[in-house]
Amino acid sequence: MIHFHKISKRYENGNDALLNISFELDQGEITFLTGHSGAGKSTLLKLIMLIERPSGGRLIVCDQDTAKVGRSAIPFYRRQIGMVFQNHQLLFDRTVYDNVALPLIIAGYRPRETGRRVRAALDKVGLLDKENLSPIALSGGEQQRVGIARAVVNKPRILIADEPTGNLDPELSAEIMDLFDQFSQVGVTVLIATHDLGLISRYDHRLLSLDSGQLISDGTDSIAADPH
Ligand code: ADP
Ligand code: ADP
Repeated sequence: MIHFHKISKRYENGNDALLNISFELDQGEITFLTGHSGAGKSTLLKLIMLIERPSGGRLIVCDQDTAKVGRSAIPFYRRQIGMVFQNHQLLFDRTVYDNVALPLIIAGYRPRETGRRVRAALDKVGLLDKENLSPIALSGGEQQRVGIARAVVNKPRILIADEPTGNLDPELSAEIMDLFDQFSQVGVTVLIATHDLGLISRYDHRLLSLDSGQLISDGTDSIAADPH
């Protein structure tokens, strides 16, 4: 579903953010991406979103060679990918419903289809009864679930999460991970960038570790922090 083949990224100022990175993520796979600040995690996610372009190598996403996805095709390309952020990036002057509907309105769905899909997404994250509230009235964990509903409302094949549990305690983090599990079970490929070694060690998921732009490990829980 995502294939990095000898990908490098050098920024215009000469910074080498990624060096010869190769890995493949299959459909329905959940993978953690970790590494210290400056290791290249954001750059890797930006390459998948086509916010940045590689300096070398081949990047295949959803069977498409991304080098052939031109500027005008980018909005369509990005509909295959849902993004979840640490700080939710929700609009507090709109209802929960409106926040989740936003990607569908931008994509031009009709109101009826929008309503159906928004309610299906809110149902999946357990927030159907909160659709008319402002996100400001919700807890941190609930806000993050609104962010997840918005990320999956147009049924992306890939879900990318950047520090999705950054502000949440372990119990709420587990709820978010359960949701990711459910999506992976219906075939969504999930990539989670995180510093949270506790979170990583609690799951058996594949772990990609970056260090100064190099992929230093690719396996299951190879940096297991606490051996319980
Ligand atoms: P992480 O997300 O792991 O903290 P980044 O991908 O943000 O790492 O950064 C990787 C390296 O690339 C760092 O050395 C950073 O300074 C550099 N970098 C990131 N963005 C840019 C940019 N737009 N221009 C130049 N250098 C950048
Ligand atoms: P349709 O749009 O075909 O009528 P539904 O919206 O009822 O289908 O969803 C059908 C099934 O697909 C659901 O059980 C849902 O869990 C699953 N599904 C597939 N991909 C995704 C995704 N990216 N996000 C959420 N659910 C998904």
